[in-house]
Amino acid sequence: MSRERNVESAETEFPADAYKVRGHGGVAWSVAGWETEPDADTEWSGYESRTGRLACVMIGDDRQWFFDPDDLRPLDETEYCRECGQIGCANAAVSAD
Ligand SMILES: [Zn+2]
Repeated sequence: MSRERNVESAETEFPADAYKVRGHGGVAWSVAGWETEPDADTEWSGYESRTGRLACVMIGDDRQWFFDPDDLRPLDETEYCRECGQIGCANAAVSAD
C-alpha cells in the first residue's frame, strides 16, 4: 500500500493544499495525484491507466498512501498545522494569523 507508484496530476479535481481523510482524522494530507498502473497497452503506448484511487502524503511525511477520493474532504488552512500536519494543533491558529 505504501510503495512509490506513478501518479498523474489531480490538481484540477483536488486543488486544495490539504485534506482530511476518513479514518485518518488526526492529520492533514496533501494529494500527490491519481494512482496509475500499467495495463495491457502500456508496453507499446507508454501510458498507464488510473486506478481510481488517489495517492496522498501526510503533511510532514513523504510516504504515499492510497485512498478512495470519496474519503477526502478539503481543509481550511486554519484547520490544520502547516508545520506538523496535525488537525487541532495549537500552532494551527497561530500560524494562520
Ligand atoms: Zn503543529
